[in-house]
Amino acid sequence: MSAIIKVENLTRIFDVSKPWLNRMIERQPKALLTAVSEVSFDVERNSVYALVGESGSGKSTIGKIIVGLVAPSEGTVEVEGVDLASESDADKIDAVRADIQMIFQDPYASLNPRWRVRDIIAEPVAARGGKTAGLAERLLEQVGLSAADAGKYPHEFSGGQRQRICIARALSSEPKIIVCDEPTSALDVSVQSQVLNLMSDLREEFGLTYLFISHDLTVVHHMADMIGVLYLGRLVEEAPRDRLFSAPKHPYTQMLFDAAPRMDAFGREVEPPKGEIPDAINPPSGCAFHPRCPLAIPRCSQERPEMRKIGQTRVACHMAE
Ligand code: SF4
Ligand code: MG
Repeated sequence: MSAIIKVENLTRIFDVSKPWLNRMIERQPKALLTAVSEVSFDVERNSVYALVGESGSGKSTIGKIIVGLVAPSEGTVEVEGVDLASESDADKIDAVRADIQMIFQDPYASLNPRWRVRDIIAEPVAARGGKTAGLAERLLEQVGLSAADAGKYPHEFSGGQRQRICIARALSSEPKIIVCDEPTSALDVSVQSQVLNLMSDLREEFGLTYLFISHDLTVVHHMADMIGVLYLGRLVEEAPRDRLFSAPKHPYTQMLFDAAPRMDAFGREVEPPKGEIPDAINPPSGCAFHPRCPLAIPRCSQERPEMRKIGQTRVACHMAE
């Protein structure tokens, strides 16, 4: 197996200060938010790598860095052996960029309401001067819609159908990698599994690799081969799917499983997480999880745990064995 994406030591810091004038008046220091911190992982070709974490864990930022929407502050992303930051051959970078597409959470917001579906789907190819005749019709059938839908507008479709249109558009430039950011979380539960099954089928058919971003463990279990768990911008655990689900090693991963929504006898959702996610501008010292961790020892607030390999798992915790 070979890695199609290699992420090394990835860090992204955002300046979230107020405009400087307000800051002067209120005498506030510059505020820096470390959204992603020293994250490293490999994604194997034709696999699904899921990044899991609560909101604010940095998973979307990593996805945006990989597709080139956000620049890293430090670290490297290598796709198909090309280091996107240091490569000087613009044609090489363009070729790699064309191999990576992204699908977003809200299928409505990501479709231009004034364009016909035909033009929406063909746009990435048209933008590169490629042939678009019959392309949208063919792709619509591939995603379970009909060729006749090409002449319609986005508002004529349901949420699930719109996400199928987004998938068709992502496929139009024949990518090798699709970054999927919560692709089904805006959809009704009944529609979610249909879209996920379609994505699995397309992966088989086209030999795709997915970087799958989600907070939903049920969805991740359905899709992922490998799972990386993020907490406050850091990768805290990584393991093959079955390993992670059967033997989570990091206390935060264990907490995520405990917090997964469960229904009581009346079909109501049972109370989830304990403790707030801390402020990412002033993260806790040592292991950032220590204020919420049931296993914390004094060392945890002083010393940040390094990532260690234990069997098939990589984990950053002083207490993991
Ligand atoms: Fe908990 Fe300490 Fe492990 Fe962090 S390093 S997860 S605080 S036991
Ligand atoms: Mg997000």
